[in-house]
Amino acid sequence: MLKTISCGEVRAEHIAKTVTLAGWVHRRRDHGGLIFIDLRDREGLVQVVFNPDNAPDIHATAESLRNEWVVQVTGSVTARPDGTENPNLATGAIEVAAERVKVLNESKTPPFYINDESGEVDELLRMKYRFLDLRRQSMRDTIIMRHKVVRFIRDFLCDRGFLEVETPILIKSTPEGARDYLVPSRLYPGRFYALPQSPQQLKQLLMAAGVEKYFQIARCFRDEDPRADRQPEHTQLDLEMSFVEEDDVLNLIEELYTRLIETLYPDKWIMRPFPRMTYAEAMASYGTDKPDLRFDLDMADLTDIAADTDFRVFSAVAASGGIVKGFKAPGCASYTRRQTDGLIEFAKSYGAQGLVTIALTGEGDLDDLTQDGIRSAAARFLTIEQVKAIAHRTEAEPGDMILIVAGPAKTTNQALSALRNEMGSRLELADPNLIAFAFVTDFPLFEWDEDAERWNAMHHAFSMPKDGHDAFLESDPGKVIGRLYDLVANGEELASGSIRIHSRELQERVFGVLGYTKEQVAERFEQLLTAFEYGAPPHGGIAPGIDRLMMVLTGRDNIRDVIAFPKTQSGFDPLFEAPNIVEQNHLDELHIRITDDDTGDSPTI
Ligand code: ASP
Repeated sequence: MLKTISCGEVRAEHIAKTVTLAGWVHRRRDHGGLIFIDLRDREGLVQVVFNPDNAPDIHATAESLRNEWVVQVTGSVTARPDGTENPNLATGAIEVAAERVKVLNESKTPPFYINDESGEVDELLRMKYRFLDLRRQSMRDTIIMRHKVVRFIRDFLCDRGFLEVETPILIKSTPEGARDYLVPSRLYPGRFYALPQSPQQLKQLLMAAGVEKYFQIARCFRDEDPRADRQPEHTQLDLEMSFVEEDDVLNLIEELYTRLIETLYPDKWIMRPFPRMTYAEAMASYGTDKPDLRFDLDMADLTDIAADTDFRVFSAVAASGGIVKGFKAPGCASYTRRQTDGLIEFAKSYGAQGLVTIALTGEGDLDDLTQDGIRSAAARFLTIEQVKAIAHRTEAEPGDMILIVAGPAKTTNQALSALRNEMGSRLELADPNLIAFAFVTDFPLFEWDEDAERWNAMHHAFSMPKDGHDAFLESDPGKVIGRLYDLVANGEELASGSIRIHSRELQERVFGVLGYTKEQVAERFEQLLTAFEYGAPPHGGIAPGIDRLMMVLTGRDNIRDVIAFPKTQSGFDPLFEAPNIVEQNHLDELHIRITDDDTGDSPTI
C-alpha cells in the first residue's frame, strides 16, 4: 500500500510514530513559513504541517500543492500545540509533521468546492462531476451508510436461512404496472428482451423450485413518467418465503428494521410493535394508505353531522354520496385570514373544492362554547350544537382550528391527507429522530380505472384474495380484499408485498378480472401458471425499496442523494450522457430503423 494508515484514523496513540499517508489535499493554508494541509481520504481528515526549519527540501513541493491534488506524505505524529486542538475532528488532537512528500497526481481546479456542504452547488453540475461530488463528506457518508445497511440486511437474512439468488436482467415482461424497458435482440431479429420491473415471477418460480427462503438486492427497471422521487431503475430488497402467512413476513421485516436501526442508527427511535392497520382504517383516519405516524392529527368522519346542517356545501355533498371529513390543527385558532386563505389554496391545489375552517377562538371548556367563541365562514349555517359535535368528533378544544373538506371520497381524502402532512410540518409536530413505521394490510385486490374503464391490480396480479373473497372475483371485484400488505415509514411507502396465488385456476380467474385475453395470459405468464401445476408451495413475500429506506434513514428528501450514480428527474445521466444515439452499424445489427428523422436535442435535466 502507498499508505500505512488512513488519514482519518490517526490518533493520539500514534504520537511519536512515523506514518505514511496518501489522500487528497482538502485545504491548504500558507502561514508564511508554516504550511498546513488538511489531507483527506475516505476515513476523514488529518492536519499535515510542513515546517521549513525541519524539512526545507520539501517546502517548495508543499507550496505548489493545490486542492484535490493526490499526495503521499510521510511524517511523524505529534501532539498539536496547546490551544490548537480541534475537538470537532476525530484527528483533532494530533498533526503529522511532514518529512517527505510525493505528488501522486495533480488536479485541475474542481468546478465546485469539495469542502462546500452548503447544498448550493447546482445539481446538474454535481451529477456531471459525480466522481467529485462523491468526494464530499455528506455524499461519502451516505454511500458508506448504504453499504452498511445492505450488508446488515444480507447478514440478517443469511443468518436466518435465506439464500441469495441472482435472477436475470434480460428477461420477458414482468409487470408491476409500469412500461417495460426493452432490449433488442441481435440474434433474433425483431425480438426484444424486457428488463424486469421486479423479479416477481422469478422469485415465485424459485419458490416452485423449492428454494423456500430467497432474497436478492435486486435492480428493478420501470419506464414511468418522471416524478421527483422516482428513478428509471431502483433497488429493492426482494424477498420471498414458502409456507408462510402474513405474520411470518411482517414479523421478519419488523425485526430486520428494528435491529438495523438499533445497530446502525442508534440515535433514531421507533415505535414497537409497528402499528398495524387495515387499508380501510388508514383511509378513514389519515385519508391515505401511507400515513405519517410521527404525529397524530387523526381525521374524523363528519358526514352524518354535516348532512343535518343548513350549510349547503355540507348537506349537498352528504346527499350526493360524498364525504365530509376533518381534523384539528392544535393551537391554530389564532390563524390570520391570510393564513387560512393560504390553507384553502393549498387544499384546492390537491383537488378539494374548498376548505372549511372553524377556529375555536374562545377559552375554557368546550361545553361552554358560544357563537362568540367561533370564527368560521360557515358559522352562521351551523348551530352551536353542531359545532360542538364536530369539535367532539375531531377532539378539538378551544384554541384549536378544525379543518374540514367536503366532496367525493377520493379527492377529499387526497386533499385532507396533504393538508395533514402540511400541518404536521408547519407545526413541527414530527420528532426528527422518530422513524414511524407501520404496516397497512388488507388492501382491495383491484381498483377501478375510470379512464380505461377496467379493473387494475392494486398492487400486482399475483396476490391471493383473502379467504372466501374469491367468491366475488367475477361478481363484484371491487369487494375483493387481498392478502396484501405495505410497510410505510414517515409517510413514505417503503415496501409492498403479499401472500401469492399458487394455483393455476385462481390465477387465471384474477387475470380474467384484469381483462387479459387467454392469448395474453399464455404469452406473458405461461411459465408461472405451468409452475403452479407442478406442486408450487404456498408462498408470499415483500420487496422493500432500498433507495427510499436510505432517504428515510438519512433524512434526505432527494432520492438522487442516496444513489451513487443517479439519473436526473427526466431519466438522463449527465455524466455518461445517456441515453444517447448509437452508430448506424450497431442499429443495423439490431435490425432497428429509427423512424423519426429528428432524434431531438440531447436530453438534459
Ligand atoms: N414485486 C413487488 C414490487 O415490486 C413486491 C412484492 O410483491 O414482493 O412491488
